Amino acid sequence: MKIPVSQPALVGNEKKYVIDCLDSNWISSKGKYIHLFEQKFAEYLGVKHALSCCNGTTALHLSLLALGIGAGDEVIVPTFTYVATANAVAYTGATPVLVDCEPDTWNIDPLKIEALVTARTKAIIPVPLYGHPCDMNPILDVAQRYGLYVVEDAAEALGARYKESLCGSMAKISTFSLYGNKTITTGEGGMLVTNDDELAAKVRLFKGQGMAPNRQYWFSQIGYNYRMTNIQAAIGLAQLENIELFLAKRREIAGWYKQHLSGIPGITLPVIKKYASHSWWMYSILIENEYGESRDTVIYRLSEDGIESRPFFYPMHVMPVYSKGGAPFKIATAVASKGINLPTYYDLCEQDIVRVASVLRDICK
Ligand SMILES: *Cc1c(COP(=O)(O)O)cnc(C)c1O
Repeated sequence: MKIPVSQPALVGNEKKYVIDCLDSNWISSKGKYIHLFEQKFAEYLGVKHALSCCNGTTALHLSLLALGIGAGDEVIVPTFTYVATANAVAYTGATPVLVDCEPDTWNIDPLKIEALVTARTKAIIPVPLYGHPCDMNPILDVAQRYGLYVVEDAAEALGARYKESLCGSMAKISTFSLYGNKTITTGEGGMLVTNDDELAAKVRLFKGQGMAPNRQYWFSQIGYNYRMTNIQAAIGLAQLENIELFLAKRREIAGWYKQHLSGIPGITLPVIKKYASHSWWMYSILIENEYGESRDTVIYRLSEDGIESRPFFYPMHVMPVYSKGGAPFKIATAVASKGINLPTYYDLCEQDIVRVASVLRDICK
């Protein structure tokens, strides 16, 4: 039996709601599920507005557009993130300014932000990577002192908390991805949340081609077609109904990994800070020198046993499109070369984790 690294759990009302879309002919980007899904999503996060869109990358793009960020501006982003964070900045014509990560959480290092702020800086995008929240207070503090916006790219952190606050409820705007491997999914999809009425209105304008809300086919500005369909929202609503179940299962999986991987020399398990409640989007480990085999060999050996795993993201600064030949970002470089994401999804049972752990124990020298 193969163990994939991730798969969705369509265990609730997904089919029923999708059939309702088909039976009622509401399959495009209008319909009741869009409203219901947005309303329930906003309620879950305790925010005023949740706006659906076609994926997490467009949610980020819409955030920056609504904040008026564009050519000549700078946006501070972690070098260690999924490429969508930097891409969304680039779409607007602004420049992503990269920051190294913390050695233990792998998230943007709040202490390294201030030195990068210039007269052109407009925003900071913290990314709670693999589901561990960023240390938000110092980030919000720098932002406040310099008059910068904070946009949280919480794609991987639905359900995670910083102290008492849910990730995605603390920034001016926050975004989520609803891709098939995320904590809840719509296939492809994204959500943007904010408490600001004016920003919400701008996002609505931008995602609907820029059409004025009170004048049909009058386009007051150049917009985009970034809408979600009713079918996607139907799946999303059913997924959201099960969020507590999904989060509880992920916590259980993380507990099994911790139990069965502890004590293997050269494997560093994920750290959970005092301020953090993890969403366990991925259970991630580092393969240290002491382990005796390289990270890539470990991935290969796992795959020979039918276990899929994933290397960590390449940091942005090593990719030609984002490297400026500048700072070495030593911590991100090291972490990215050592990290592996292990299978993390709803259908896993403890026996599967035992199997992964026993392969990791066997390879270790
Ligand atoms: C998944 C993800 C996104 C957005 O992904 P989409 O595929 O566009 O939905 C953005 N940022 C991070 C950190 C992600 O993991």
